[in-house]
Amino acid sequence: MSANTPDTIPFVDLVAQYRRYQSEFDAAWRNTVENSAFIGGPALQRFEKAFAELCGAKICVGVANGTDAITLVLRAMGIGAGDEVIVPAHTFIATSEAVTNAGAKVVFVDVDPVHTLMDPTKIEAKITKNTKAIIPVHMYGQLADMQAILPIAQKHGLKVIEDSAQGHAAIEHGKRAGNFGDAATFSFYPGKNLGAYGDGGAVTTNDAALADKIRRLANHGRADKFGHQIEGVNSRLDGLQAAILEVKLRYLETWSAERRAAAKRYNEMFAGVAGVVTPKTRTEGAHVFHLYVIQVANRDALREHLTAKNIQSGIHYPIALHELEAYKYLGHQPSDFPVASHYCKNIVSLPIYPEITEGQQQRVVEAVKQFVGQAR
Ligand SMILES: *Cc1c(COP(=O)(O)O)cnc(C)c1O
Repeated sequence: MSANTPDTIPFVDLVAQYRRYQSEFDAAWRNTVENSAFIGGPALQRFEKAFAELCGAKICVGVANGTDAITLVLRAMGIGAGDEVIVPAHTFIATSEAVTNAGAKVVFVDVDPVHTLMDPTKIEAKITKNTKAIIPVHMYGQLADMQAILPIAQKHGLKVIEDSAQGHAAIEHGKRAGNFGDAATFSFYPGKNLGAYGDGGAVTTNDAALADKIRRLANHGRADKFGHQIEGVNSRLDGLQAAILEVKLRYLETWSAERRAAAKRYNEMFAGVAGVVTPKTRTEGAHVFHLYVIQVANRDALREHLTAKNIQSGIHYPIALHELEAYKYLGHQPSDFPVASHYCKNIVSLPIYPEITEGQQQRVVEAVKQFVGQAR
């Protein structure tokens, strides 16, 4: 990240968010410290209840991060060695990494060329007798096509775990991310739409037995202080993070609306600009725009152009998973998942956050326009 100057447009502005609600954040952490409520405690319990309610799910279990959340769900479902789990070739590595962490085998499926979400038409070809689960990812804040994916899973007796690390409060036909599959996982990494002041994560589910197992696994396998029936791990959402998240949760709906409005402004400003492909929305009003990702030729040069104008940007993600060194052992060719491979080479994520102003967006769009104009 380049050094900030007063006119820098940051990629995400967490300081602006802190200033906006400073007294509430300060009271939350002070209260945690004064009560020594560092592990477990009332803020965690209140947050878990409130977050489950927001998602429309029965139960929320706080864990240490969004990657552990996926691994713990898989382990609690009894998915591990010898089992296969289907994940999109275009997502953050955490989705597939969690499958490996659980001891199961990663099986990639391509994404669709319009929304770049897990392509439901390509799932069945990947199902074998060892397949146990599908992990659709609500990429960039947009729900995967759950209406198409859930019947496929049902037909083949597979579990569905929503990776909703980028999809907090995304909603479709009145139903929230976190309430479609057998379980859903969330990350509260600081830059996510609902972000802690450190690492954090959660699982939502309507299955009480599964939730109980996850809670136990995440806390050294204990049912009570020393009654360890199984070995687990240490993966808890701590009290300080829960207290911050409890404050932030009150404003999540406002922030989603502000993100949507910012995305709409970008779309309008880019309308008719040749050489820039703007993101496509499956269902109007559903997307929570964790990221606003455009497609352009020469994206690395565009990023340099933006940096020179003190505009930060990102790439989510530069290399499709099957092309990563980490997955060489699977023996894939780039052409095995052509949509993901192609897409990854042409994307740039532009600054988006609830506090971004129209003036800042105007500057971003002017800079992009200037670049694509020169390039033609
Ligand atoms: C951030 C993210 C994760 C992992 O979350 P952590 O809290 O960083 O472990 C998993 N999946 C996706 C799609 C993510 O964006």
